[in-house]
Amino acid sequence: MQQIQNFINGAFVPPANGQYLDNYNPATGKVYSYIPDSDAPDVEQAFQAASAAYPQWKLTSLEDRFKILNRIAELIDENNEALALAESIDQGKPVWLAKNEMTRAGQNFRFFATAAMQFASESHHMEGHAINYTLRQSIGVVGCISPWNLPLYLFTWKIAPALATGNCVIAKPSEITPMTAYLLGDLCIKAGLPAGVLNIVHGLGPKVGNAMVSHPKIKAISFTGGTSTGKHIASVAAPMFKKLSLELGGKNPNIIFADCDFDKALKTTVNTSFLNQGEICLCGSRILVERPIYEKFKSALVEEVKHLKVGNPLLKESKVGAIVSKMHYDKVLSYIELAKTEGGNILCGGTALHPEGENAEGWYIAPTIIEGLAYNCRTNTEEIFGPVVSIMPFDTTEEALTMANCTEYGLACSVWTNDLTKAHTVAASIESGIVWINCWLLRDLRTPFGGVKQSGVGREGGWEAMRFFTEAKNVCIKY
Ligand code: NDP
Repeated sequence: MQQIQNFINGAFVPPANGQYLDNYNPATGKVYSYIPDSDAPDVEQAFQAASAAYPQWKLTSLEDRFKILNRIAELIDENNEALALAESIDQGKPVWLAKNEMTRAGQNFRFFATAAMQFASESHHMEGHAINYTLRQSIGVVGCISPWNLPLYLFTWKIAPALATGNCVIAKPSEITPMTAYLLGDLCIKAGLPAGVLNIVHGLGPKVGNAMVSHPKIKAISFTGGTSTGKHIASVAAPMFKKLSLELGGKNPNIIFADCDFDKALKTTVNTSFLNQGEICLCGSRILVERPIYEKFKSALVEEVKHLKVGNPLLKESKVGAIVSKMHYDKVLSYIELAKTEGGNILCGGTALHPEGENAEGWYIAPTIIEGLAYNCRTNTEEIFGPVVSIMPFDTTEEALTMANCTEYGLACSVWTNDLTKAHTVAASIESGIVWINCWLLRDLRTPFGGVKQSGVGREGGWEAMRFFTEAKNVCIKY
């Protein structure tokens, strides 16, 4: 069985303690590879490699940095199919979806490779007697920690800007989905990334992640994951005055007004609810529908969702794959039980599925729609992060906003209306970092990305990421 290794100082190395963890294929529920159960000594080894590489990397010309990062992008594109297959087996997502995500992973590197060439800083002129200019300098060795839902997509979204701005990186993918991060190491060697500039340490959050966050000389942490993990990381890193970017959980509303384009809203809502098994932080898990179209929308949605093919992620016809891990599968199922005790009526789904053959032991859940829940009950306010949504009617814009804003989260929302005034009013009043009007997941990589309230602190994307991974230094010259 394949044994994944850490990528430290440009080479693949075993964990110092020689221990490995099982890596499962969610589609079959079986172990298919082993990953290093690394610990603080591996993080220290990565830190030594990164700090040795840093003086050279920070002085590498912008054009040379561009060439290497752009070459990584090209290699990701050239290996799209192989990476997508690996991602699908590791994560449980349909392989057709994994291909799109591998395209995006390449785009992440290409986008930040070009950003390295174009990033500029501000200057402030003081009325005829002095000028200030801002130096934006790399930080040093930084840490990037990413989750299991969009493994290579989110991993590269952090690493690329960190490298583009001249930092050296220690990165930890989720221990649940390590495979494409492992494969990335080889592409970095082929692209000519100097040894030690990127180091990938595999293992558990409380060991590897914690060693990174508490390391006194890793000066910035970019983290994407759950809110409770984010809270813990902040409690460790903040007293050390580290720079922190926290992209956390969500409980996103879809607000669908009666004057919307019904068919577009319906088709997109199927995706916002169940794409990637609902395991996207931007998925809309609360569907709020204006009363005049509530019954029609609900019936049409249930009809569409009943026909979604759930099964083997490697088959083209599978629209919904397997849930990422047994633990997460149990969690999602427990929320369906909770919804029942809270008075929810299951309109479709609501059960585990057991496809035939080698997938019988995999972790599949039927796409589930629930109605009849109070808008502020636990099912409607806690993050489930699976193929489970609730649907509720509303009568006024104010009521929709009250329902939408009632959770502790504030990541994203989508609004469906053909009334411009209503669209702008909701966009301005909704408590969330990202608002989509008449669309969903339409991404321009230059835009600020992140959440408010317990969905996070800081923004990724475009210049926001380039600024996060640099320190601003003001230089004032009197003349
Ligand atoms: P977790 O918070 O469990 O894990 C995220 C990462 O942090 C993993 O690599 C994990 O390692 C690591 N980690 C866990 N404990 C620690 C620790 N004590 N110190 C440092 N690192 C640690 O999240 P999930 O992987 O379960 O991802 C799902 C969550 O991510 C959802 O809440 C989702 O909303 C959120 N998310 C947010 C996004 C956003 O942009 N806002 C985007 C995508 C997801 P390990 O896996 O080994 O435990």
